Amino acid sequence: MRRPLVAGNWKMHGTRAENTRLVEALIEASDEAPCDVVVCPPHVYLWEVGRQIKDAPIGLGAQTVCAEAQGAFTGEVSAAMLKDVGCQFAIVGHSERRLLYREDDTLVARKFVAAHAVGLTPILCVGETLEERERGVTEEVVGRQLDAVLAVAGATAFARALVAYEPVWAIGTGKNATPDQAQAVHAFIRARIAARDATIADGLRLLYGGSVKAANAAELFDQPDVDGGLVGGASLKADEFVRICAAAA
Ligand code: PEP
Repeated sequence: MRRPLVAGNWKMHGTRAENTRLVEALIEASDEAPCDVVVCPPHVYLWEVGRQIKDAPIGLGAQTVCAEAQGAFTGEVSAAMLKDVGCQFAIVGHSERRLLYREDDTLVARKFVAAHAVGLTPILCVGETLEERERGVTEEVVGRQLDAVLAVAGATAFARALVAYEPVWAIGTGKNATPDQAQAVHAFIRARIAARDATIADGLRLLYGGSVKAANAAELFDQPDVDGGLVGGASLKADEFVRICAAAA
C-alpha cells in the first residue's frame, strides 16, 4: 500500500509574511491530512519555512537543485546546501526548468543523481507538450525522460524517489488531464520501472501534476496508479491545498 503524498510547488511566489500565514494554516490542518504533505518554497525562503514546520508533519522540498556538488557556479544552490537547510525533497526536471531554462534529459538526470547522493528524495517531473500529445508520442517522450535517469541512477535509486507526471499542457492552464489520461501514463511509468525492478516499481509513488484543484483532486487521486499530486497554483491558497490533501484519503 503506497501512502499518498501531496506536494505544493509555490514556484516564484510569496513573501515572508505570506508564507508565514500559509504555513500556519497548513500546520493547523496537518494532523488530519491523510497523506504526506510537502511544501516547496523558493530557495530563499527554505530555511525560514523549514523552521516554521519543524515540529509539524510537513516535509520541505526545493524546486530545483544544481547538478554540481560545489564550486564556481554563481547563483546556483547545491544538493548538500539544500540538505543543510533542512530539505528532504528536491524537484528535478520541472517542465518550466526544461522549457524555459533549457534543462535537457542529461542535465535533469545529473540533478536527480546529485540530489539522491546527499540523501534527498528527488521528485522527478516528466511530461509531454500539447504538440507531442497530439502527435501521439506521449509514451515515447515520457519513456525517454525516464530512461535518461534510469541510465545513470539505475532503478534502485527509485526506492527513494518520486515521479510526477505533469503534462505540460495542463500546468497552470486550468485544463487538467482526465483521470483516464493520467492513469494511462502513470501505468506506463510504473511498467517502465517494473521492467527493471518490479518491487521498486510497486512501491514507487507517482504524483499527478497539472491544474489540480479541490474540485478535481479526488477523481484524479482515485486512480490506481495515482499516488498523490504535485500542485502549483492551488498550493498557494491554504484552504484549497488542505482540501486537495484531504482528497488523497
Ligand atoms: C506545477 O507547477 O508543478 C503545477 C502542476 O502547476 P499547476 O498546479 O498550477 O498546474
